[in-house]
Amino acid sequence: MDFNLNDEQKMMRQVAAEIADEQLAPRAEEMEENREIPADLLAFLAEQGYFGLFLPEAYGGVELDPVTYALTMEEFSRGSPAVALVVSVQNALVGLPILKYGTEEQKEKYLARAASGELFGAFALSEDEAGSDAASVQLRAEKKNGGYVLTGHKKYITNAGFAGLFLVVARTGPEPGAKGLSCFLVERDAPGFALGERFEGMGMRALDVRRLEFENCEVPAEALLGAEGEGLKIALASLDLSRIGVAGQAVGIGQQAFNEARRYAGEREQFGRPIIKFQGIQFYLAEMATRLEAARLLMLRAAARAQAGEPFSAEAAMAKLYASETANFCANLGVQIHGGYGYMRDYVVERFYRDARVTEIYEGTSEIQKLIIAGSILKG
Ligand SMILES: Cc1cc2nc3c(=O)[nH]c(=O)nc-3n(C[C@H](O)[C@H](O)[C@H](O)COP(=O)(O)OP(=O)(O)OC[C@H]3O[C@@H](n4cnc5c(N)ncnc54)[C@H](O)[C@@H]3O)c2cc1C
Repeated sequence: MDFNLNDEQKMMRQVAAEIADEQLAPRAEEMEENREIPADLLAFLAEQGYFGLFLPEAYGGVELDPVTYALTMEEFSRGSPAVALVVSVQNALVGLPILKYGTEEQKEKYLARAASGELFGAFALSEDEAGSDAASVQLRAEKKNGGYVLTGHKKYITNAGFAGLFLVVARTGPEPGAKGLSCFLVERDAPGFALGERFEGMGMRALDVRRLEFENCEVPAEALLGAEGEGLKIALASLDLSRIGVAGQAVGIGQQAFNEARRYAGEREQFGRPIIKFQGIQFYLAEMATRLEAARLLMLRAAARAQAGEPFSAEAAMAKLYASETANFCANLGVQIHGGYGYMRDYVVERFYRDARVTEIYEGTSEIQKLIIAGSILKG
């Protein structure tokens, strides 16, 4: 497999790295404190094309490939993993499914607005009783008056507070089972739709993650995305790609934890010399660097397969599983190498330690990634 990046991929990685260092990292603490991503930053990212990553020019997009997406997630996450996630949801979990499964009317209605940052989207699959077991979604969509009426709730929905459009997985067929699920595009002002409580996370506190309530929420027939019964297929295919983004996010967190640790180890002196001179510290750095390289290669392999149109579900799961464990490993050692400073709120490694944790949970826990990988092994 050829992992040499082409000129465009190199250039896009460089641009994303500069944005991370100059625009995201300096504001990460402010975003964390205020628990929001400032509107001017979102507008800047929109202007640079980051909300139309997979969309054709006709919809205002820049139509990049999955490798560039993964590299962008990695670089952005060195500065702010929360911002990277907002970008990932908008592209992989909202824009791309509409492009792939939407009608011409749906594409016309939403995609250019999504690419320009005028319209943010959220991806709503999880519920109280439907987490890892996504096929057990209970939110119902009943056919009525030529449209549908949605009743139920969603939980832990990222970007919900500022989203104008929600890709909602609902049950149109019998319970239980995956076949009875369908996807709907629900607008923020649909009658009967309301935002619920905002959750407060351990890390990535700038994320706006909420509960959604649907009480006899009426949507027109045209809100159906894809065919009835295709809901879980659309959701899981979208998650396959966005898991490569989470792998990139995890590599970025781990890489920046490494960078900070390496820098600090060169500056901090104990026993009359910089701590980087101690073999114990060097071994930590060596192990971090090795795992990061392996995680990055798994990420690139999954992205390259996606780019080539080959099946990549198991490869994306491997990349997410390994990269998220690596992020936690590196963040933990990043704190350790900083000693007491690493434990204090005003050091960036403390934030990465908290931010890394969720990469092993959302978009499918590590245990679910193992189920996907095992499933592919058993299939041969
Ligand atoms: C910050 C954040 C943002 C999120 N954003 C979104 C979003 O935008 N949209 C959305 O739809 N969801 C979102 N989620 C939800 C997320 O995808 C779920 O939390 C995740 O899939 C796990 O589901 P759960 O929390 O119900 O855990 P559970 O499924 O209850 O799992 C609990 C534990 O049991 C394990 N487990 C479950 N089943 C098995 C099994 N078969 N074998 C072995 N172990 C198993 C799990 O791995 C886990 O360790 C978000 C979550 C967080 C924390």
